[in-house]
Amino acid sequence: MTGHRIVVAGAVLDRDRLLLAQRRYPPDLAGLWELPGGKVEAGESPADALRRELREELGVTIAVGAALRESVALTRDLTLVALRARIECGTPHPAEHEALRWVDAPGLRLMHDSGRLVPADNVWVPELLGDLGG
Ligand code: C5P
Repeated sequence: MTGHRIVVAGAVLDRDRLLLAQRRYPPDLAGLWELPGGKVEAGESPADALRRELREELGVTIAVGAALRESVALTRDLTLVALRARIECGTPHPAEHEALRWVDAPGLRLMHDSGRLVPADNVWVPELLGDLGG
């Protein structure tokens, strides 16, 4: 497991809406939408890392909730997980993303069906649609 890293993404939920963020990089992912997050640093829990990343990337303070069921092996050394989150303080603004967007269940389904999500994040769509009442 030496060198294995976790990337944590946030399913930021507000009642029947989910926050999506549009990537700027790398070129093959630029323009696609994702659950915002980033790499867990040494000594951090995934929840700590998500709180830090969303403070840096969106300028919000979050409360972290339950993990989504699926995790994704991005590479041999990188695993992607997602945690539910709720904004406790602040309004999200994109410091590092191209744009942010709140979607409801039909909106999320449309983003998925039209291929506008980052590939790895597609795995969470069924569970997220359940959360959104869709
Ligand atoms: O955001 P960052 O570049 O730190 O993410 C690290 C890796 O995790 C990238 O390869 C990115 O494509 C992937 N990722 C993802 N889905 C997310 C967040 C990150 O596939 N929601």
